[in-house]
Parts: sequence; C-alpha cells; structure tokens
Amino acid sequence: MKPIQDGWIRNFVDGEFVEPDSRRGFDQIDPSTGRIVARVHEADRPLVDRAVTAARHALDSGWADTPVRERTALLRRVADRIEERFDEFVAAEMTDTGKPLTQARELDVTRAIVNFRTFADIVAAAGQESFLTDLAGGRQALNYAVRKPLGVVAVIVPWNLPLLLLTWKVAPALACGNAIVVKPSEETPSTATLLAEVLAEAGLPAGAYNVVHGFGADSAGEYLTTHPGIDGVTFTGSSATGAHVMKTVAPRVRPVSFELGGKNAAIVFDDVNIDEAVTGLAKSIFTNTGQVCLCTERVYVHRAIFDDIAAGLAERAESLRLGDPNDPNTTTGPLISQGHRDKVLGYLRLAEESGAKVLTGGSIPELGPDLDGGSWIEPTLWTGLTNTDRILREEVFGPVAALVPFDTEDEAIALANDTEYGLASAVWTNDLRRGHRVAQKMHVGISWVNTWFTRELRSPFGGMGLSGIGREGGESSLHFYSEPTNVCVQL
Ligand code: NAD
Repeated sequence: MKPIQDGWIRNFVDGEFVEPDSRRGFDQIDPSTGRIVARVHEADRPLVDRAVTAARHALDSGWADTPVRERTALLRRVADRIEERFDEFVAAEMTDTGKPLTQARELDVTRAIVNFRTFADIVAAAGQESFLTDLAGGRQALNYAVRKPLGVVAVIVPWNLPLLLLTWKVAPALACGNAIVVKPSEETPSTATLLAEVLAEAGLPAGAYNVVHGFGADSAGEYLTTHPGIDGVTFTGSSATGAHVMKTVAPRVRPVSFELGGKNAAIVFDDVNIDEAVTGLAKSIFTNTGQVCLCTERVYVHRAIFDDIAAGLAERAESLRLGDPNDPNTTTGPLISQGHRDKVLGYLRLAEESGAKVLTGGSIPELGPDLDGGSWIEPTLWTGLTNTDRILREEVFGPVAALVPFDTEDEAIALANDTEYGLASAVWTNDLRRGHRVAQKMHVGISWVNTWFTRELRSPFGGMGLSGIGREGGESSLHFYSEPTNVCVQL
C-alpha cells in the first residue's frame, strides 16, 4: 500500500500503511487555491494505541540496542533516499502549505536531508562522561555514563515548516535508539507520511516510526499525549497548546521538550548600511509569509534612520511577488488556512483600532480566479504603535511587523526584552563591540547580529519564557532523546 493512494493520506502503524476508514476523515486543502486535494484518515484512539504498542514492541525487539554505527548508516540512507525523491517531497510540501517552489526546494526539503546527515555525524562523534572517584584507603571507583534511549517518544509538530521541523526531531530521536509516534499537523499531513515509506525502505524496523493523523483536542494529539505508554513528548507549536500538553503529561511525570511561539524583536542602530539592513529585515519579517517562529514582528529603529528604514522596508514588501507557488518568480505564498487568515485579519483590524499607520499592505490581495479561494494576505507594516499595544505583545504569525523608534541603546534593549516570549532577536549594527554587547543582553534562545535564520545545527536551540522549555540541537538533542545512567565500579 502507498502512503497517499485513492485520494487518501494514510496513517502508518507498525510498518504498514493503514486502510482508511471512510467514516473518519478530514479534507486536505491546498492553501494557495482553497481546493480540496485529498482526504486524511483521522486516527481514532485504538489506532493511536496500536501505534504506541508497536513502538514499544520495536524497542523491545532490538531497535533500542542496535549499534550506533548501524543507526547512523540508516540515517544516511534516509538522507540519500529523500534526495532521490526530492521533487516528490517538494511537491507534497507545496500542496500542504502553498509555499513557493523555490522555498520548498532550497529550505524545507534541503534542510530535512541536512538534518539526517548532521545528527548521524553528531551521534557518531558523541562520547560519554567518566570519572575516577577517590575512595578511603587509596582505593578508587570508576564512574561512567551509559546513555539509554528515552523510549517511546511522542513527536508533535506544527504546519509552518512541516518536514524541516519533523526531521529536526525524528533524526536525533532515531539516532539515539528511540521508537516514535508522530502526530503531524492536521494542515500538513503529507511529508510525514512520505517519510514513513522512506524510513521503511532504508531498513528501519516496523514500529520504530509511526504516523497518526488528526487534530489536538479529543483527537490523535490528545490520545497520544495522554497515552500511558509514552516515555516523553517533544512538541513544537504554539505556547498555549504547549501549556496544555504540559498539564496533560504532568501526572505521569514524563520529560517534555517544548519549542513554542515567539514575538521576536530586531534592533536597528543608526550606523548600519540602510540597504543591507533593509534586506536582512525584510527576510526576517516575510520569509514563509511570516510563518516562522523566528520571524521578526517588532522592529526597533534608531530615530535618526527611522524614516529611511520604514521607506526601504515598505518598498521591499511591495516588491514581493505573491502568486502561483509553482512559478519560480513567486517569493511569497499564502497563509496556511482561512482560519489562520481570519486570525491575522483580526490583528490587522486591531492595529488600525489601536491607531496604527499602515505603511503598506493591510488587506487581502486580488490574485485572479485560480488563487482567490486561497488564504492570501498582503505583507503589512505598521508605525505609530507602542509596546503597550496588543499587536506588540502577541504573536501574529503572519507577514507583518510594527516599526517603533528609539533614541538610546539602553532604551532599545529594554523595549526588545519587554515581552513574555524569549525565542530570537536580531541586532543590526556596524559597531562590532555594540553588536556583541547588545546580543548578549537579549533574553532569548538565539541572538543574531547582522543576520537572521543562520543556523548551526550543532548549537543548542530553544526558547525562554513562553517560547519553550529545554534545548534541542547538537548534543542538547542527545540529552533530551536519551537518559544518561551512571555505572559505578569499585576498582
Ligand atoms: P498548534 O499549537 O496549534 O499545533 C501544533 C501541533 O499540536 C499540531 O500538530 C496540533 O494538531 C497539535 N495539538 C493541538 N492541540 C493539541 C492537544 N490538545 N494535544 C496534543 N496536540 C495538540 O501550533 P500551530 O498553529 O500548528 O503552529 C504555529 C505555532 O508553532 C506558532 O506559535 C509558532 O511560533 C510555533 N512554532 C515554534 C517553533 C519553535 O521552534 N519554537 C517552530 C515552529 C513553530
């Protein structure tokens, strides 16, 4: 059976695609057109239970004890196989998200391949701690750490960078010998399902990777996080859902890793080259139609260059090309759904009610009959708002930003840190010392200087405050996806 067949996107449990139950399904909609493109089989509680049981069985039948060199070889085969089926993954990601061809190729699917290769390298190079402990009478004990897989891991991911964020978790989880049950976003079911086929072809034992489709509450997401058979949850999504999942998991005291929302700030000092700063800022605001947790939504600009930056950014926003995702000249796709567009439109109305001046955008674009059913929105920039306005406090998750002037470095730092979130920031300056100084004062997990979205996968990644709990990336991923245990031998 194929992952996507007869118009159905299937669940994958215990090494097999499950025959869909026609009574349990929901539509998969292409956000660029609003058209229904497939049905997704929604997993019920018994199917989620089967997936967790299969994962436990895979662990117990030897996957957890597979030598590291075999696991890393498998990850490399998976990367090769995605590369061979590159166009298929690109097409699936585009249908799910409506994102432009160039982005799906250059960012999403490329990073998925890199994720598998990088974590194969990291796990292959990882060492273990050991200590010689002095005891009474001149004797010694050797203490060494043995890392064991966490066990059955629930992997819950969002829709904005579906394959990239999924493989960011799947690669280290499998590298560490875990068995996993994935619940992709209901908006973007395809690539997690295709990945099941690739993993099976690469030789992953049945049950070590399962996919259950559905929603959160009273659906596959909740069935999975409340299941007594899971040993940990890794979750990427909104802060509100993260808080809910945390409560769900708390009674059974399972480890969680949460990569949550952001309300990220950029600070632009008056020593920048305006054109370079505008290019970087535009990328940080509008990439993936603003639907990246790391996107900038607050831009603090030194008063001396405020008008120049505002004019430059408005020009960049107006030069973005919204349209057919398959056209290589298209730069910007739709929002993920009509529901999400309603939320973003609510924020556009709120900005105007709060007295914002709309520099550019602010409405729904007209793109012709083929695309008018899609969830398109104009890239939008505001001035005239302050940190007390809700627009500067809540994550919008769209192609929008508010520009606010500042006069001193201390004021800029205070404004940027005045948020409950703590995911990312970017400082734009030509003064190297100032760049380091300000970057280190940002209360965020990742603090960029003169760049944005530049990622080193061996570095720890995660957020503070409402932006998350824990770190993944590099050895931090190994720490979450395995349990270090201590063996003590008296010598
Ligand atoms: P969401 O919280 O609505 O959903 C995320 C996932 O959780 C989906 O698969 C959803 O079905 C599932 N879910 C929802 N309710 C659930 C429940 N009660 N139990 C179990 N699972 C449940 O988020 P979204 O709208 O899909 O994604 C956008 C959000 O993700 C934004 O806030 C964004 O900032 C955040 N995000 C964070 C990062 C990061 O690395 N920090 C990366 C990407 C996206």
